[in-house]
Amino acid sequence: MRYWFVFYKSDLLLEKREDGTYTIPLQNEPPVAYSDERDVHNIAPLNGVEVKAFYLKEPVVDNERYEMCGLRPSFHKLSLELYLKAGKCEEILYWDSQTRYCGVCGGKMNMHTDISKKCECCGKEIWPQLSTAVIVLIQKGDEVLLVRANNFRGNYYGLVAGFVETGETLEQAVRREVMEETGLSIKNLRYFASQPWPYPCGLMCGFYAEYESGDIKLQLSELNAGGWFRYDKLPAIPDKLSIARKLIDHWLDKFHTK
Ligand SMILES: [Zn+2]
Repeated sequence: MRYWFVFYKSDLLLEKREDGTYTIPLQNEPPVAYSDERDVHNIAPLNGVEVKAFYLKEPVVDNERYEMCGLRPSFHKLSLELYLKAGKCEEILYWDSQTRYCGVCGGKMNMHTDISKKCECCGKEIWPQLSTAVIVLIQKGDEVLLVRANNFRGNYYGLVAGFVETGETLEQAVRREVMEETGLSIKNLRYFASQPWPYPCGLMCGFYAEYESGDIKLQLSELNAGGWFRYDKLPAIPDKLSIARKLIDHWLDKFHTK
């Protein structure tokens, strides 16, 4: 038996159970035929069970047993370990699709190990690359800084975030992003936790900080709203799957335990 993580673009194939819940197909044979065995990837096993992943060329539709689901909403349908494994599979498949040819000589890249490729002409080896991002909850007494980014899909508020630049530490990236996006200085920066963010190949590193000085001046190319919100008067906030929400919930805990 093996798990089959089958994607069409960023949509994942889920198996419907009779009780209305969902899972990932666990069987010897693939749930849907693949076109080329070389496109099937071996992913690190899950609890000792082999894991395979591949992309479909067409989505599965009108099927009694299977249905496609976006990776993000699959968080609400799968166990946490299956959702996290799906993210890993999607990252490998995406990386494979984006690195067909060698960046040095243009030769064809072939899988070398389960997590590396090698150019068949010059021997250049590559591994999946992460885009590292930082995200920070800034508190000021019983208020938190929340912002709405232009690229948010919903009408909710989140935390200041951005990509780490080459040559920067995580801490420098946090201070730079906060200054660029809001014009604020922060202090007492503390690491919270990190989270793989397979949309499509990120690692989010979460921090807490306290407001130090400055007035909010939003960077309008990135943000369309933002301000200080008291813990008991929050607007709509991000979904439970995100580290933004974990930071906010963890911050809220200290008011609710009083
Ligand atoms: Zn090459």
